[in-house]
Amino acid sequence: MSDQIPFLSLVPQHSRIKKEIFEAIEKVYDRNWFIQGDALLQFEKEYASENQVSYCAGVGNGLDAIILSLRALSIGPNDEVIVPANTYIATWLAVTTIGAKIVPVEPNATTYNIDVTKIAECITSRTRAILPVHLYGQACEMGEIMDLAKKHSLYVVEDNAQAHQAEFNGQKTGSFGHINATSFYPGKNMGALGDGGAITTNDAALIKKIFSLRNYGSSKKYYNEVIGTNSRLDEMQAAILSVKLKYLPRWTSERQKLAEYYEKELNGIGDIVLPKTQTGCTHVYHLFVIRTQKRNELQNYLHTRNIGTMVHYPVPPHLQEAYFSLGYTPGVFPLTEIFSKTSLSLPLWPGMDHVTVKKVCSVIKEFYAV
Ligand SMILES: *Cc1c(COP(=O)(O)O)cnc(C)c1O
Repeated sequence: MSDQIPFLSLVPQHSRIKKEIFEAIEKVYDRNWFIQGDALLQFEKEYASENQVSYCAGVGNGLDAIILSLRALSIGPNDEVIVPANTYIATWLAVTTIGAKIVPVEPNATTYNIDVTKIAECITSRTRAILPVHLYGQACEMGEIMDLAKKHSLYVVEDNAQAHQAEFNGQKTGSFGHINATSFYPGKNMGALGDGGAITTNDAALIKKIFSLRNYGSSKKYYNEVIGTNSRLDEMQAAILSVKLKYLPRWTSERQKLAEYYEKELNGIGDIVLPKTQTGCTHVYHLFVIRTQKRNELQNYLHTRNIGTMVHYPVPPHLQEAYFSLGYTPGVFPLTEIFSKTSLSLPLWPGMDHVTVKKVCSVIKEFYAV
């Protein structure tokens, strides 16, 4: 039986704008130009402006966006990149794909983002970059991260896949780092109808490298200056994303209102730890993540009452089979491991109504009452 209240539904979001999306698709269809055309150029311009940067390059997906960003900085074997221990595995995969060494840093206990007080001790002569992730939609403390980077001459590459429109001190995430990556995976706050991603930067030389790298290492057709790849945001997705970008501020504030309502309803219930935003940071609630010692029991209880939830993430990257060769054993990143055992993401999506939030909360209250 499917969940009465799903963990995520794209239905309200997509039904509201169906006509506009179909018109955008039809335009591309009629133009018969599907790769690197006007729709991409227009979207890149719009996204750069929305994200408060000079340049944007659409790419195939979020993982490629991080990989190409690191490659544009000429980071590779023998280099070290500082990453959060507590993140989605894509952040780590990007670093291993280019052959650099992963240097994980534990999260802050209240924000779940990289602990900025623990970065300095991990910097060595081989460190080239810090790769902060604005996890679940909350901006990292970018002031301290940029200061550290400057002091040690390091690059900063933001992984902004979960935080479109989040801000630190009034400035958008994805505009702080030397070069930054984001994803338009359908379930992200800003999602395509398929795979998609983007790179943002204020550096003209870096964006030029990206334009070449994403297109076989070629700036001039059939002339290849570097060993590139094929990772482009196609015209159809670019046109769809241009439509969605107009609605993003509205959807973001809907997410924030739903989160506020959850927080009001769940405040003081059982042992629930609610999301907490750091001063100066905003949260765009890609995910509404609570923590409880009874995570599995609560998830089961909600499941049997047809309420969908998810765990982000049940296995931290360092304990994944894929990274067995790095030799990490349980206990090396204790906070990250605790979060993986106690976190639960509740249903939240634009178009979800307050009655539905209230229903989820009343079942949670029932769980703690018995
Ligand atoms: C989704 C995600 C990615 C990867 O994006 P894709 O478009 O799925 O490749 C990278 N980092 C984080 C933090 C993500 O949430």
